[in-house]
Amino acid sequence: GDAPVDADCDVLVLGAGPGGYTAAFRAADLGLKTVLVERYPTLGGVCLNVGCIPSKALLHAAKVIDEAEQFADHGITFGKPKIDIRKLADWKSSVVKKLTGGLAGLAKQRKVEVVTGKGAFKDAYHLEVDGKEGKRTISFRHCIIAAGSRPVVPPPLAVDDPRVMDSTGALELEEVPERLLVVGGGIIGLEMACVYDALGSKVTVVELADRLMPGADADLVKVLRKRIDKRYDAIHLNTLVKELKPNKKSITVKFEGKDAPESDRFDRVLLSVGRRPNTDLIGLEATGLKPNDQGYIDVDEYMRTGVSHIHAIGDIVGQPMLAHKASHEGKVAAEVIAGEKSAWDARAIPSVAYTDPEVAWVGITEEEAKAQGIAYEKGAFPWAANGRSLSLNYQDGISKLLFDEQSGQLIGAGIVGPNAGDLIAEAALALEMGAEAADIGLTVHPHPTLSETVAMAAEAAEGTLTDLY
Ligand code: FAD
Repeated sequence: GDAPVDADCDVLVLGAGPGGYTAAFRAADLGLKTVLVERYPTLGGVCLNVGCIPSKALLHAAKVIDEAEQFADHGITFGKPKIDIRKLADWKSSVVKKLTGGLAGLAKQRKVEVVTGKGAFKDAYHLEVDGKEGKRTISFRHCIIAAGSRPVVPPPLAVDDPRVMDSTGALELEEVPERLLVVGGGIIGLEMACVYDALGSKVTVVELADRLMPGADADLVKVLRKRIDKRYDAIHLNTLVKELKPNKKSITVKFEGKDAPESDRFDRVLLSVGRRPNTDLIGLEATGLKPNDQGYIDVDEYMRTGVSHIHAIGDIVGQPMLAHKASHEGKVAAEVIAGEKSAWDARAIPSVAYTDPEVAWVGITEEEAKAQGIAYEKGAFPWAANGRSLSLNYQDGISKLLFDEQSGQLIGAGIVGPNAGDLIAEAALALEMGAEAADIGLTVHPHPTLSETVAMAAEAAEGTLTDLY
């Protein structure tokens, strides 16, 4: 069919997460009449409301506690922290509120019409929105699906008890449990483990795979392990959680794995075993589209689905499920609809775990390079030889760069240590620009900073490293 001639809008964006609001703002800036549909009363999606932002606020609080503790050996001793968990949760919520409120203002400024309610497609040109004031059907010329994802709950672990939480529940910070079990050793699970450990919980992490944070460089994860092995009660790899049984006082958990006990008791359990796309919540079939085998919507480099006036972006189109991927895709979709020459063409997308220490990487890891038979030159710089790192009371970090032996260009970077997430941005730029080791090594970096470790890793790869500290 064709677009209705009197359509309500040029672009309808379904879902107001980082993908959706970015797409809607860009579309409006390009002169398109834009409607943004969101089921929840605030904009910002998972990222602002129950993801990136609240977790980083709590991780900062964790860092304050840890740094104060760690200075006891160096001449400053604080008392045991008194934690007012309601006040901390309120501060976290106030950070979120500032940002979501800001988005509402930005939408208004741009004349993006925000419609609150649950959207479901009626056909390829109409979306029905079920809101507080009843149902309303909106017609559109183009659509951008940005409906995101939600936590996976494996059926045997689907227990209806408030002490069994997903990441949203964990961020609510209802209490500091004495013993917390984190099921799933990926980024989200390990970040929340870090928060609750600092607040005083005894943490156990259980992971089905043979390593924490699969996908990250093993050398980097080792540095994180060194710290959390000391602090956490236990980390069980290659272990399956078979059953959760809530009792009056605790939750009995059954494990299956070589090193894990048969069963144990915890006061709370966080399930962080992955996320699934919200493809099943939006009446997708009415448009003529079907999700792929993994439940995602397939798109091309223009973020176009199989129905060419319908685009899709963000978590709902696949991995990596990251806010910065969603927002970049959102811009591409809006620009393509506006007739601009735009396409998704990123060489790499950085990943960051904001744990203590932070673990960040971009491009391929050393193991991936080996597995793919890529000949590479490696430069690694230990932070123990960086003056700024030592003055931050930290010496375990590593900055590691991989260059393609043939082209000389950067193909992968990994950093572990405080602020690794900020430092990886330089490597991402270098990778996008096709930089070689000399480009990075000859760039004058400010002294003394952690950023020098990146330059020195490049010099190490070139064999020109002389200046330390
Ligand atoms: P979402 O943010 O999921 O937004 C989709 C929106 O669509 C939601 O608001 C939803 O309510 C709405 N919606 C869905 N269906 C309908 C419907 N039928 N009608 C109306 N509205 C609908 N990523 C990072 O890059 N950095 C981080 O530090 C980070 N930390 C995270 C921490 C946690 C605890 C979690 C859970 C995630 C984290 N992420 C992080 C991932 C990040 O939040 C997601 O990748 C990002 O939010 C995806 O954006 P999106 O726009 O695709 O979808």
